[in-house]
Amino acid sequence: MIPLESFLPQGEAVSALIQQARENRMTHGLLISGEAGVGKWSLAWSLAAALLCENPDAGVKPCGKCKACMEVAALTHPDLIVLRKGEHLDPAAEAKTVIPVDDIKAMIGMVSLQGFQGNKHIVIIRHAEDMNQAAQNKLLKTLEEPPEGTHFLLTCVNADQLLPTIVSRCRPLKMHPWGDRDVMRVLTENGIDSARAQQAALDAGGSFGKGLRIAGDEEYWHFREEVIQDFLGGSSRSGILKVSTKWKDRKDEAEAIFTVLDQCFSRMAHRRLGLGSTGAALPPPWEKFSQRAELPDFIKLNEALTLARKRVRSQVQFQTVIEQLILTLMEAVDK
Ligand SMILES: [Zn+2]
Repeated sequence: MIPLESFLPQGEAVSALIQQARENRMTHGLLISGEAGVGKWSLAWSLAAALLCENPDAGVKPCGKCKACMEVAALTHPDLIVLRKGEHLDPAAEAKTVIPVDDIKAMIGMVSLQGFQGNKHIVIIRHAEDMNQAAQNKLLKTLEEPPEGTHFLLTCVNADQLLPTIVSRCRPLKMHPWGDRDVMRVLTENGIDSARAQQAALDAGGSFGKGLRIAGDEEYWHFREEVIQDFLGGSSRSGILKVSTKWKDRKDEAEAIFTVLDQCFSRMAHRRLGLGSTGAALPPPWEKFSQRAELPDFIKLNEALTLARKRVRSQVQFQTVIEQLILTLMEAVDK
């Protein structure tokens, strides 16, 4: 779980909310909106921990050490109810692609009882726009007059897909995309070493969630390194065949490959323009390239990737796509 302090760069509304959660005077209906990856779920989860934490000192909530905090972190706290599509309170729920009305009914039944560990219930509805019409209608009344000690934390990307009556019963909180530096800081605060955190923050492109997800994902870093070494590390034309043979059956990874290369090129361009770091070093010819390349050179790289993507879509044999791409990249770097 992310410490609540990590969310402070999101602004005053968030810091006020954190204070209210710690002092147990938070609103009973909160609607957290924002683009995918800005940390809506992470914030809701940490707020739930602060609300359920049993530490008497409001200043340290969530303490991360008490029984309640441990259970919230493990998502096993009996008074924390998380609703999302695909994971249903009512195992008989038929509609797996929405949050169905049966789940809302089951939840209302749970919050109308005394809490297990206190007099509180925290209900997080992830992607609240996944509630179908019936579910939203069913939620309305409880949202308007929640049982004592019940807090609803709704997250959504697009509040337009919610009934206006749901939206008007909640306090809105809009989260914003993060700067690379803020993502990096959160990652280091969560124990990621700074080189990895910097790289992850750059790859995350302002998405807090993606930064967290990839930072500890060794498979991701291995893949990334493999792409850089194979596609940018070659110096001879005979090496191209070796690489293309190795990758020829990995067409389903085409987009992931192109994304890694895209990121490398845009970082080189950024550094060339003095706009920031490239993160980890690239193979030597590319390091040199990134010191002398001009705008047309970068445009060429971009065009090479666009063409490769187009060829994949047009069902050109993947091995051929790779060979042509690497050849173009080699010509660009040798210039
Ligand atoms: Zn605690």
